[in-house]
Amino acid sequence: MRREDPTLPMSAHPLLEVRNLSLDFGSPRGRVRALRNVSLDVPPGQVVGIVGESGSGKSTLAYTVMGLLPENAQVTAGSIVFERRNLLTLTAQARRSLMGDRLSMIFQDPMTALNPVRTIESQMIDIQHHEYSSRSAKRSHAVDMLKRVGIPDPQSRIGNYPHQFSGGMRQRICIAMALLVRPALLIADEPTTALDATLEVQIIHLLKDLQREIGCSILFVSHHLGVVAELCDRVAVMYAGEVVEQGGARDIFHRPGHPYTRALLECDPGRIKQRTRNLPTIPGEVPSLLGTKKGCIFRPRCPHAFDRCVHETPGEYRVAADQVARCHLLDRAGMVAA
Ligand code: ATP
Ligand code: SF4
Repeated sequence: MRREDPTLPMSAHPLLEVRNLSLDFGSPRGRVRALRNVSLDVPPGQVVGIVGESGSGKSTLAYTVMGLLPENAQVTAGSIVFERRNLLTLTAQARRSLMGDRLSMIFQDPMTALNPVRTIESQMIDIQHHEYSSRSAKRSHAVDMLKRVGIPDPQSRIGNYPHQFSGGMRQRICIAMALLVRPALLIADEPTTALDATLEVQIIHLLKDLQREIGCSILFVSHHLGVVAELCDRVAVMYAGEVVEQGGARDIFHRPGHPYTRALLECDPGRIKQRTRNLPTIPGEVPSLLGTKKGCIFRPRCPHAFDRCVHETPGEYRVAADQVARCHLLDRAGMVAA
């Protein structure tokens, strides 16, 4: 049964289907191939984590789905299908009407989303512009949501400006704003990176509770593997602009199939049992993304590389029922997934 079957009920389709997506950034040194042939599904009601080292393309993928790209970005191939519509071919107006309604986003820096010269009240009322209800009903809905995310005394604090809240409180307000509209898909780009560890745990639990309550899906970008293991149902591992492995979170964390995923997990501070001053790192550096690449993108850092890895880009192979990875080592008869 193919996923694209138009006769399938809506609930059987992924909410978001990214297919063979490639994106370049223009730069004075040439084209930066920031996304290459990326495919990824977000099923309805699930949380999908995107992990990988800095520069792997996680944020670029999230911003491409949101349509928030800088002028030097160019999608060169692929599609992003959300609720059966290709976001890349929608008119600007159709896309705008999806934002803050079916699709919303939480940023790493809450001030990216909040207007510093307007009260939280006016911003939370404005964001409900799709709703046909009175201003006082919208205000009351906003107060309820602020209470839900743990803002003390929300009745009076809703009249405050963003700078009158701490960083952790501002991020709670952004979560309240993003979920106020009950989106089908929430995109969260490193929403807890700027917070201390205790706050991070609180915010993750809050997100998980709200996601279950609302029934939305989340595309969650993070370099923090512990948080992803806690929150996500599925995980996509990105390296140098490519998704090298994806599948159920339990499978990826317990039985990684790709050498890069294994290396990433081995270097995760949260998994290192012995006290040490020197945290391990993956030897070598993330490659330059300038120009076209031949062979496996991870080869210069891979301890298992062999001749085939130099010349041939690995296809996607099945590791488990719900797990695929791009590595020639997995190329055994009958295992080709795509
Ligand atoms: P981090 O965890 O550090 O945020 P990331 O995995 O989210 O990293 P991206 O920020 O998506 O990675 O960057 C992917 C690549 O695209 C990097 O090589 C980055 O330098 C490049 N890049 C991102 N934005 C631009 C831009 N506006 N112009 C040129 N190159 C860019
Ligand atoms: Fe390593 Fe080759 Fe697999 Fe790439 S394809 S991850 S270089 S073994």
